[in-house]
Amino acid sequence: MPDDQFSDLLLAWFDRHGRHDLPWQFDRSPYRVWISEIMLQQTQVVTAVKYFNRFIENFPDVTTLSKAKQDYVLHHWTGLGYYARARNLHKTAKIIDEQYDGKLPLDLNSLINLPGIGRSTAGAILSLACEQRHPILDGNVKRVLSRYHGVEGWPGKKDVEANLWSYAELHTPAELISSYTQAIMDLGATLCIRRKPDCQHCPLNHDCVAFKTGREHELPESKPKSNLPNRETIFAIIENNSGEILLEQRPSTGIWGSLWCFPEFPTDKSIEISLLEKYGYKLKDKIEFKTFKHTFSHFHLSIKPVHIRLKTQTNRINDARLSTWVKLEANHQLGFPAPVVSILKNLNNSKRIVLNES
Ligand code: SF4
Repeated sequence: MPDDQFSDLLLAWFDRHGRHDLPWQFDRSPYRVWISEIMLQQTQVVTAVKYFNRFIENFPDVTTLSKAKQDYVLHHWTGLGYYARARNLHKTAKIIDEQYDGKLPLDLNSLINLPGIGRSTAGAILSLACEQRHPILDGNVKRVLSRYHGVEGWPGKKDVEANLWSYAELHTPAELISSYTQAIMDLGATLCIRRKPDCQHCPLNHDCVAFKTGREHELPESKPKSNLPNRETIFAIIENNSGEILLEQRPSTGIWGSLWCFPEFPTDKSIEISLLEKYGYKLKDKIEFKTFKHTFSHFHLSIKPVHIRLKTQTNRINDARLSTWVKLEANHQLGFPAPVVSILKNLNNSKRIVLNES
């Protein structure tokens, strides 16, 4: 198939069946496209829509985002996961505000040099917001091109990815760039989906290698399996006499960087001793709850929540920058990792802890 036929078919399909009413498709500024592209990296469209509207309402432009407190930005990311995305958005907004007068630079290399913006995201910003001709290669596009061209190998491998970039470049038309970019993303999100692709209604099925050879369920190849190691931790939900819970801010780098978490302990035995030594707290009672698992990309974390009530009336803290007491029902503006959200929600709803498996 000539290359322009690929884009022609896709554009014709997009006109009739593509998504034209997503919030970031209106007022397509580079800023709005950037925020939406970062959100969509690991998040389904339905979820991203809700978060996008709230995020834009609170951070309508680069300067507002750059001047916001990191906690406030992370608070608006709570529940989306992959918090490095939010930290990078904030960091990048500061750079853009200081070095580019609050406006995203509109050339590929400058964008790629900013934290959290890779080649595909930069291409999406420039093609969707500025009609500049740049290919993109996000997860959806990788899937479409792997299947269409019958590309073997896991797309995360360098040589496979390079091959896919050359196909992405080949098919990107000279005109109607924003529509084409949206069209290929939409095809991957609605028809050429991971499980059960709807090949019968696909505009590319005539020349799709995977469809013609019945391999649409085999391609793209999955990431080679590795057995994730398991780690264990104890979350201590420490409650004072006023019904406040102690939270600690995690270091800015590493897992859940800068988010607020319950104090962690390696073993049951260490809790009482540490509480006394670190904070000077004495325990009134302690209830253990069911351990549940949270999975990261490179390990499983088994979390045992332990609800501790303190004997003494206290809201003393060691370092106000790193720890705080919060009322559960208070409208605090802190960012929390998903397991903490789930525990807080259950505490808040029932005034006792009922943990679900997750
Ligand atoms: S024919 Fe099927 S596998 Fe091929 S691109 Fe279309 S939806 Fe994907």
